Amino acid sequence: MQSLGKESEAAIKKDQQYLWHNITPYSEANPPMIAASASGSWVTDIDGNKFLDGMSGLWCVNVGYGRKELAEAAYNQLLSLPYFPLTQSHMPAIALAEKLNEWLEGDYVIFFSNSGSEANEAAFKIARQYQQQIGQHYRHKFIARYRGYHGSSLGALSATGQAQRKYKYEPLVAGFLHVAPPDSYRRPAGMTVEEFNLQCAQAIEDTIVWEGVETVAAVIMEPVITGGGVIVPHQVYLDRVQEICRKHGVLLIIDEVICGFGRSGRKFGHQNFGIKPDIVTMAKGLTSAYLPLSATAVRKDIYEAFKDNSDSYGHFRHVNTFGGNPAACALALRNLEVLEQENLVERADILGQRLYSGLSGLLEHKLVGDIRSFGLVLGIELVADKATKQPADLDTVKGIIADCKAKGLIIGKNGDTVAGFNNVLTVAPPLSSTDEDIQFIVETLTAVLNGSWAE
Ligand code: PMP
Repeated sequence: MQSLGKESEAAIKKDQQYLWHNITPYSEANPPMIAASASGSWVTDIDGNKFLDGMSGLWCVNVGYGRKELAEAAYNQLLSLPYFPLTQSHMPAIALAEKLNEWLEGDYVIFFSNSGSEANEAAFKIARQYQQQIGQHYRHKFIARYRGYHGSSLGALSATGQAQRKYKYEPLVAGFLHVAPPDSYRRPAGMTVEEFNLQCAQAIEDTIVWEGVETVAAVIMEPVITGGGVIVPHQVYLDRVQEICRKHGVLLIIDEVICGFGRSGRKFGHQNFGIKPDIVTMAKGLTSAYLPLSATAVRKDIYEAFKDNSDSYGHFRHVNTFGGNPAACALALRNLEVLEQENLVERADILGQRLYSGLSGLLEHKLVGDIRSFGLVLGIELVADKATKQPADLDTVKGIIADCKAKGLIIGKNGDTVAGFNNVLTVAPPLSSTDEDIQFIVETLTAVLNGSWAE
């Protein structure tokens, strides 16, 4: 379907001379795709080849590509007020904060930044300072999960539980601890999913107690581990985690960077479980990635602890020059309107179920150990041996992804090469995908897996 044309060849030469890519290893044998335009769920490269973006970029283009109304919202705002710092204020930030509060169904105050990593950094600083401000001076530790991802900056990377992303940069920030995630597929024989999830939640309480209750500031987790392998918890897990946090005075930070903005089939992922986080971080789908913007939503009464300015150190001493840029806020507001007007949150759930039922037959395939889905996120866990659940090797995973790309479908994978868990294919197309787009994903993945990979 696609070939490396003349345009690409010339551009790749320059690309390799001047551009340092995110995460992807430099390789002449595997040149990058150079995108030129996109519409809906489809991206066209500079040679005119078309691909269905089954990953919405990096899990972020929730409303799909080519939305004129989003571009116009930013353009109009750039003309009237392109910038003003949020040490003061402006109307797009106020309007967006009000809207986010409505979406969160709680009483939250919003701090804006530009990326998911920064939203989490702000959350960590707020959590530590809040604990100090209420007299809990030793509470500085954070508990996160192995396999979770929370960002690339040093604090967010410290919270991340994927060795491959961390070990070259260690030692990282002190005070971040990890526990095992509720990976029910790999639970011990004889244990029910519910029992196993309760055991995983208990590991958090045990860690809090063993570390010393008065030293732990917060727990951070995604509602569902997405990039770390689509690990979907049982309801009892999040119920219990919330209960443990409340019991021990530990804040619960929920990272909605991927799960937010309809991806989960609800406005925010945690709403599927009925929990009420103390702090919610978000990015990606907030603007559908049309412009950089992220947010840290903080429960109102936590914010109140920062209000007393009689001591000059009482307020949150954190500044972000670009965070809450007026054009990004205006665009985000329009993005939320599109999600609402086109019922894309509900559609994510419908499309997710269709994707799952279209692909569930692959559970019979010798390489497929498990298929998990949550809203419009799907993970296919590949194994070398179904009995032992030994993860499939990286060449197999990469080979399947390359074969899908050759047929015009972009899919992703989780990554922890060091720990050996890089065996989950991931699919998360735009929430605006058409029925035909979903059918194309189902047919292409099925054809690839049932082709040479079935032998
Ligand atoms: N949290 C989660 C759950 C993420 O998936 C990501 C990015 N993939 C981040 C945080 C960091 O976001 P960013 O890349 O915008 O810093």
